[in-house]
Amino acid sequence: MDETVYDYVAVGVGPANLSLAAQAYQWDTVCGLHLERKESFSWHPGLLLPEATLQISPLKDLVTPVDPTSPFSFLAFLADQDRLYEFLTADFPAVHRTEFNQYLTWVSERLPSLRFGAEVREVSFRDGAFVIRTDGAQTRSRHLVLGTGLTPRVDDRFRTHLGPTAFHAGEFLTRGPQTAGRQVAVVGGGQSGAEIVRHLMTRPDPPRGITWISRRPSYLPLDDSPFTNEFFFPDRARAFHRLAPEHRARLLREQKYASDGIDLPTLEEIYRRRYVAERIEGRTDWLTLLPACEMTELAGEQGHWKLTVEGADPADSQVLDADLVVFATGYGYELPAFMTPLASRLSRTGGLLDVHDDFRVGWDGPDANRIYLQNGARHAWGIADPNLSLLAWRSSLILHSILKDR
Ligand SMILES: Cc1cc2nc3c(=O)[nH]c(=O)nc-3n(C[C@H](O)[C@H](O)[C@H](O)COP(=O)(O)OP(=O)(O)OC[C@H]3O[C@@H](n4cnc5c(N)ncnc54)[C@H](O)[C@@H]3O)c2cc1C
Repeated sequence: MDETVYDYVAVGVGPANLSLAAQAYQWDTVCGLHLERKESFSWHPGLLLPEATLQISPLKDLVTPVDPTSPFSFLAFLADQDRLYEFLTADFPAVHRTEFNQYLTWVSERLPSLRFGAEVREVSFRDGAFVIRTDGAQTRSRHLVLGTGLTPRVDDRFRTHLGPTAFHAGEFLTRGPQTAGRQVAVVGGGQSGAEIVRHLMTRPDPPRGITWISRRPSYLPLDDSPFTNEFFFPDRARAFHRLAPEHRARLLREQKYASDGIDLPTLEEIYRRRYVAERIEGRTDWLTLLPACEMTELAGEQGHWKLTVEGADPADSQVLDADLVVFATGYGYELPAFMTPLASRLSRTGGLLDVHDDFRVGWDGPDANRIYLQNGARHAWGIADPNLSLLAWRSSLILHSILKDR
């Protein structure tokens, strides 16, 4: 057993806890440990499609919004890689996610507080410290920071069918399915669904046909306009946090397309490629668009699926064939299973965790031992919570809360 009692142990090394590690690096008075189950850093590898781009400015990186002089900024990465001038000259309208992943990996390689290949199995609380158990090791810490990300969502009706030819979009590249010459159904009309449809349409060896099913009335765009982008300012998040729960729930519904729509360039590219296929090349059955429709049943077996799809009028339901079904049906927060020993000690309102103004979760343990939550409090902090925009700011609040009583 590691005898050190760390100031904090952070579980999960995605961008959220990587930001915390990058900011904590300059404080030699704080001793933190970051545990990640993967063997090395990767950012949503299953959706790291070559054409996918970041939906925010790369200056909203791990550190710049709170410390523009940090050595862990995106600009520092570009300079270190000797590509700053070329990057500026290329003048991309949006940065490729593959490049942002390179940046995040570069930061992860420079931080000694990260430990990879360490899956946390259980967290308990004993004798004034959290006890964090991984396979073969046990660590103690004063505070705990949860940064395990969101869980892929697939409707319960379809879960039993999950496998090599029916899976969540987040596994698209890691599964590496055969799509050439196949009939592919993409379920879900948000950004991931659009990115997969665009990817399939741009393949040199494309599918035989693509069906894109969305419950939304159309393939709706992300609202990326200036005033809407102010929802992603720290002051707006604080104002949201001060509201009553029912008021917050209403705003989340109203602001949905400021974070959940499809970026315009992706929509335009799909539209143009469809035009070329249908109008110029005469391939009218290549892309089947089914907005305002719901997949209500999935039958058949791996590789030979029958999808029942209903529109507003159930009498118009149709049964479609597909070789491959991709569920681009989003993500949601779930308290990780390793928190089971402490789950009943966390405070909740209406079933949702109480997350306070330094991102600590209310619990019945001592105030000197805190549990902080990264990217699990959309209900309390608004639509920016799962996004990269406020990540540096949130990590800075958590770090200063930890530093406060040192
Ligand atoms: C494909 C995709 C693209 C996105 N693009 C953008 C974008 O352009 N702009 C934007 O603002 N937002 C974007 N987002 C939203 C958000 O920024 C990302 O989801 C971001 O990765 C969230 O960071 P995170 O650290 O909270 O979680 P994650 O990146 O999910 O990281 C969580 C980490 O915790 C680890 N973990 C989980 N359980 C354990 C355990 N028991 N023990 C140890 N480790 C564990 C996981 O392996 C993982 O590495 C995107 C989301 C997705 C899915």
